[in-house]
Amino acid sequence: MAKRDYYEILGVSKNATKDDLKKAYRKLAMQYHPDRNPDDKASEEKFKEAAEAYEVLNDDNKRTQYDRFGHEGMRSGGYGSQGFSDINDIFSHFSDIFGGGSSIFDDFLGGNQRTRSGRRSSGIPGSDLKVTLKLALEEIATGVAKKIKIKKLVKCSQCNGTGAESGTSTKACPVCHGSGEVKTVSRSVFGQFVNISACSNCNGEGTVVEKPCKKCIGDGRTNDEITLTINVPAGVHEASYMTLRGEGNSGKRGGPAGDIIAVFQEIPHQYFTREGDDIVYDLFISFPTAVIGAEVEVPTLNGKAIIKIEAGIQPGKLLKMRDKGIKHLNQSGHGDQLVRVNLEIPRKVNTKEKELLNELSELPNFKKSSNSDENNFFKRFSF
Ligand SMILES: [Zn+2]
Ligand SMILES: [Zn+2]
Repeated sequence: MAKRDYYEILGVSKNATKDDLKKAYRKLAMQYHPDRNPDDKASEEKFKEAAEAYEVLNDDNKRTQYDRFGHEGMRSGGYGSQGFSDINDIFSHFSDIFGGGSSIFDDFLGGNQRTRSGRRSSGIPGSDLKVTLKLALEEIATGVAKKIKIKKLVKCSQCNGTGAESGTSTKACPVCHGSGEVKTVSRSVFGQFVNISACSNCNGEGTVVEKPCKKCIGDGRTNDEITLTINVPAGVHEASYMTLRGEGNSGKRGGPAGDIIAVFQEIPHQYFTREGDDIVYDLFISFPTAVIGAEVEVPTLNGKAIIKIEAGIQPGKLLKMRDKGIKHLNQSGHGDQLVRVNLEIPRKVNTKEKELLNELSELPNFKKSSNSDENNFFKRFSF
């Protein structure tokens, strides 16, 4: 097969500057990057072809030789570019472009998605998805694996995310002519301003698909519903969140996927209120129980337990059940369960109960001690 003209491959004119070459190559390299086109032989060939063209034209000597003698000159002139048989040769050969912190992929994306050996994939990043996870206190206390169903954009299976119908490729965007940028000029009394923005037609990619994939209409993504298991650690808090990298919407035309932001929401508990990692339970006991003491049953996050009420307990007293609370987030140990003692005062009593209470109130320990009341009153106001 006859070799294509190097300038033609890169889509630049004969008097293209080094900058033009780099820009053109960068664009092709991204378009046909193996990370974006896994297992696509045609793209791999194009990727190699572009690398070869750039390798020759970017070298002044080789370029002169090629300009004078064409592909023939490359073979006889000792500058031979045998092409690249292995993709990895391209990455190592153009390490200034593909690797390191200032590679073209870094420049272009300025974003996050690192792929194998530190290179970045191209395309337009997918958006993040926010989901709310409702959690019972019991689930928060121990941590839980939550299965959720989520509707999101996934890579199109038909075109493998490229957006192009199989067998077709992409072409330079007709609006920005492949640069990915659109210049607008405005004039004012201060002079002329040139504003450069990303081309909206191609979203700054510089290319559009020749024939869009029928399934995804060129987007490279389709709607789907997936089931995802989110491992919620113990001790998470209301309104805090967890980021699941790369689980969000797929990127447009092979771009990196967004994230899922899982926001936690606590379902109010039937018995407990949460205070940090402690849980508080309001226990109501009868007046006789408070006076004589008893063993009473209380709920805990894992079943029932018995606690001892000492004789003469006062309302408002907090009884601590050590380590019965919520496990601390990302560290060992648990909070406590606090049982707050409340007195249940009957709203109604029958005749017999009333008689007994009257009788009781005349006995020494139930007689209202007016002294202590007055003392309390004066203590509160004497300052
Ligand atoms: Zn498709
Ligand atoms: Zn464009």
